[in-house]
Amino acid sequence: MGRLIVGIESTAHTLSFGVVDSDGTLFPSHSSLFRPEEGGIHPREAADHHSDSASNLLDMLSSSTDFNWDSVEAIAFSQGPGLGPCLRIGASVARSLSTSLGVPLIGVNHCVAHIEIGRNQTGCIDPVLLYVSGGNTQVIARSDGRYRVLGETLDIGIGNMLDKFARLHGIPFPGGPEIERLADEYLQKAEPDMDPVQLPYGVQGMDIAFSGILTSAIQKVSDGAPLEQVCWSLQEHTFATCIEVAERAMAHTGKTELLLGGGVACNGRLREMSSIMCSERDAVSYWPEKAYCIDNGTMIAELGRRMYQQGITTSLGDSGINPLLRTDNTDVTWP
Ligand code: AMP
Ligand code: MG
Repeated sequence: MGRLIVGIESTAHTLSFGVVDSDGTLFPSHSSLFRPEEGGIHPREAADHHSDSASNLLDMLSSSTDFNWDSVEAIAFSQGPGLGPCLRIGASVARSLSTSLGVPLIGVNHCVAHIEIGRNQTGCIDPVLLYVSGGNTQVIARSDGRYRVLGETLDIGIGNMLDKFARLHGIPFPGGPEIERLADEYLQKAEPDMDPVQLPYGVQGMDIAFSGILTSAIQKVSDGAPLEQVCWSLQEHTFATCIEVAERAMAHTGKTELLLGGGVACNGRLREMSSIMCSERDAVSYWPEKAYCIDNGTMIAELGRRMYQQGITTSLGDSGINPLLRTDNTDVTWP
């Protein structure tokens, strides 16, 4: 193990510390997920969870094999986008570590980190990224020194939509994995029948909307449709909208790689749809391991490493958080 970069993720529900070495070898993250007892994620409560978990996670990092604070050459942290109170905890921990170790700080764009961890893990070179997470749903491609947003959700993120549907039916956060399980259960039990559970299809050009689909899916359950069947239909409809926009982005840009990222990219059916679409157009689809799809500190470390190797660091004075940072706000100077 050579020189190390530590990455700190704290944009929303997860506080996580991860490490990468100067050659780009990834080390697993130490993470803690905030699970609200009821309702959605309250930013203040998630931030309290992060500040309560930080020292425990740092202890785990300190005692992990091969890790040595003397080898750390920079501290990277998520500077945005995300929930202000949560981002502030990660940034404070990053500033303390950077100051006490006497090493540079690197503020990174969380959305761009999802792309770079995927490129590191899969070896794809110039992909269209379908970024499907709790708060974000975007189709992104690199062009002219930035990762450009070619299409995105006009309302809520696909993960938030799945979590909300789940919560209303008694399934705790995160709801996506349980919706996937129920959809699989439906397919094992019955001959699939879409007719009674047709939902609206929310694609407008390169953009997508999820609230109408959500409202309609909730209505189907209250009208008596089996929950498993609606879970299946919800996945089929919403994943198809994302794959459609991703395919159009590939057609417009001429790119031949599709990379999935974000927590919803853990989903087996989304991965299958992505493979089918890509094979039909002689393209290749990629996704990182599940641990690197969900928010994690290692991806922040990996983007920090790429920036640091370009000589990019962040002064304390510029280390304020930016909850509204956009994917295309960040200059991409690394290969
Ligand atoms: P992130 O914000 O990138 O950490 O992703 C968290 C989101 O991913 C939550 O909304 C989860 O419900 C969702 N998620 C995690 N696993 C799955 C899955 N297997 N299928 C669908 N959504 C998932
Ligand atoms: Mg994310």
